[in-house]
Amino acid sequence: KNADAAMYRAKSTGHNMYFVYENRMADNINAHLTLGGGLRKAIEEEQFVLHYQPKIRLPDEAVVGAEALIRWVHPELGMISPDQFIPLAEESGLILPLGEWVIRRACRQLQEWREAGVPPIKLSVNLSSRQFMQADLVDMVRRALEETGVDPKNFELELTESMLMNDAQQSIEKLHSFRKLGLTLSIDDFGTGYSSLAYLKKFPIQTLKIDRSFIHDLGLDCDNDAIVKATIAMANSLNLKVIAEGVESRSQVDVLNGYECQEVQGYLFSKPLCSADFLTYMQNSYDTA
Ligand code: C2E
Ligand code: MG
Ligand code: MG
Ligand code: MG
Repeated sequence: KNADAAMYRAKSTGHNMYFVYENRMADNINAHLTLGGGLRKAIEEEQFVLHYQPKIRLPDEAVVGAEALIRWVHPELGMISPDQFIPLAEESGLILPLGEWVIRRACRQLQEWREAGVPPIKLSVNLSSRQFMQADLVDMVRRALEETGVDPKNFELELTESMLMNDAQQSIEKLHSFRKLGLTLSIDDFGTGYSSLAYLKKFPIQTLKIDRSFIHDLGLDCDNDAIVKATIAMANSLNLKVIAEGVESRSQVDVLNGYECQEVQGYLFSKPLCSADFLTYMQNSYDTA
């Protein structure tokens, strides 16, 4: 419907506009095909990097963790964000080798930080739904941890509500197997999926990450504030760690401190950083502490 309307508007303003519009559409389709087609080769050639965004503890604002976020360093198109290629990797099944690369790269990064003398921090990695359904996922993670010598208590997996609710019973079993490895489990984008509080109690998870859409409106909308406040209170009383994502301003930190939110992550503190910049960030953070 929207496309039809745009097409109509474009047509009615003349042939040139119509031509431009059609060309753009073709560009989008081409981009989709080019990225999709290039993905297999990109995996073989390891055209990916992980960036790391610090997680900050409240109220002392110490750096206590980081989230690993993938980027595709495309030879012609430059840096491509995960929202543009993770869905393609999901569709094609290439998310399985790509996801394994992410987990291994993250484990090696933890060891590199240790060798560089960085105080131990927890590193989290995002899983996608197809990856979560993979039968030998737990084994793959166990091998990656063992082969790199990473202490599992410094390793966290971020899952979404929809991934867990897809087959709740099977999810619970899988989460328990992960817990036996000694790592921690987090629910990402909390509040955006359809979350059943009854199930939340049954999932053996340790952390809730409040979605950044709720943090964005903090202090601007009473209903939104009430949701954030109640979510943090619920997490605290269930003994879950709670993190606010997408923190961009001091006033948001002040509100979150008031609600007793334990950790924050967002551009106010840092954007996701490449490995070298993250190391500098860490060194500065304990120099000034
Ligand atoms: P996410 O896991 O919820 O990650 C948080 C996203 O919010 C990141 O985008 C991060 O750069 C962005 N962000 C952080 N702080 C702020 C802020 O203050 N303001 C705003 N506006 N945004 C902020 P990014 O890196 O583009 O990643 C997008 C999504 O792609 C992630 O959402 C995650 O779902 C997915 N993703 C990233 N890396 C991986 C991966 O290795 N595997 C899988 N399966 N998915 C990944
Ligand atoms: Mg995440
Ligand atoms: Mg998130
Ligand atoms: Mg997300």
